[in-house]
This record gives sequence, C-alpha cells and structure tokens, in this order.
Amino acid sequence: MKPFAQTWLSLGSNLGDRLENLLAGTAFLLSHGLEWKNGSGVYETEPVGYTAQPAFLNMVIHAKTRLSPLALLEVCQQAEKALLRQRTIRWGPRTLDVDILLIDDLILHLSALTLPHPRMAERAFVLGPLGEMDPGLMTKWTLPHLTEGIRLQMPASDFRDRLSRIIGEDGAV
Ligand code: ATP
Ligand code: CA
Ligand code: CA
Repeated sequence: MKPFAQTWLSLGSNLGDRLENLLAGTAFLLSHGLEWKNGSGVYETEPVGYTAQPAFLNMVIHAKTRLSPLALLEVCQQAEKALLRQRTIRWGPRTLDVDILLIDDLILHLSALTLPHPRMAERAFVLGPLGEMDPGLMTKWTLPHLTEGIRLQMPASDFRDRLSRIIGEDGAV
C-alpha cells in the first residue's frame, strides 16, 4: 500500500450558501480518499484578481491521503464538479474552488499541477488560515504580514462540529 502523504488544501466559495459549500466540499473530500487531520476557521475575504464579484469564504484543511498527487487533484476537481462549479471567468465567482497548497515537501512542475501552489505566498486568505493551524508552516512558506484584510467568520471548532453532523460521529473528524 502507498504510504500516507500530508496535504494542505485551500477551499473557497463565493456563490450560493458559501458555508454549506465548504462543508459539502470537505465532506466530499473525506469520502474520496482524504482523512481529516485539522482545519482552520472560516474567513471572509474580499475577492482578488477579478474584483467585481461577491466576497469569498475561505479556509484551509490539513489531511492525509494515500492518493498520488494527480489523483488528489482529480478528487479536488470532482468536489468542485459535485458542487456544480461553472468555469467561465478566470478567478471569477464559484461555488467551490479547491486548490492543493502543499503535499509534504514536494516540488512539482507538471502542466496540470504545480506544488507548492504558485500563488499561495501572496494570498492573505491562504496565509491566515495556514498560520492559524500551523505557525511552523507559516514561517516556512510565507510572510506573516500578508495576513491582513481577512475576517474570521467561524472558528475552527464550530466548522468541525457542523462537519461531524454531516459525515456522522464515527467519521474521521
Ligand atoms: P488560482 O490557481 O490562481 O488559484 P483558480 O483556482 O481560479 O486560480 P482554476 O481554474 O481552479 O484556477 O484552476 C486552473 C488549473 O490550475 C487547474 O485545471 C489545475 O490543473 C491547475 N493547477 C496547477 N497547480 C494546481 C494546484 N496546486 N492546485 C490546484 N490546481 C492546480
Ligand atoms: Ca484558487
Ligand atoms: Ca483552483
């Protein structure tokens, strides 16, 4: 059996019921080869890149998986499809976006997958949640001053409680 890898994923939503989308997306991942280790709080963030769109809810989850990097990417994209994400405008509104930030210490430059995520170090909505969960990673990959401008919407423990109501008490959370 393949060994476990550790991964950190960034989830974002700015269409529909954003919190429900984050919960459903996380539940999808946990039923498709990921095991929960930890999750950040949920933060509200003004959009970057394409700014004429609603604010996002963002969070980071830490999981372990035996999936290969490309199989993990496939599962992340299936989660987006399950939430009926439409791909129209680049960086535009979406029900769910799941980006792979890190898989262990892997550095990858494939056409479909770059690791670490190439834009993670410039994004407060990634750095804030990551730093909340794992200050060690924060200093390793990021700059602390970049966490300004995000607002905590839901503490990590509340998200975990809501999630366990969806996936059941015997789930991995
Ligand atoms: P950004 O990547 O700047 O956050 P985005 O999330 O809106 O933008 P998408 O349209 O969701 O971009 O993804 C575009 C492509 O990025 C995907 O089809 C995927 O193959 C590729 N990609 C490369 N590296 C990664 C990664 N680390 N995580 C997720 N997708 C990645
Ligand atoms: Ca993204
Ligand atoms: Ca993406």
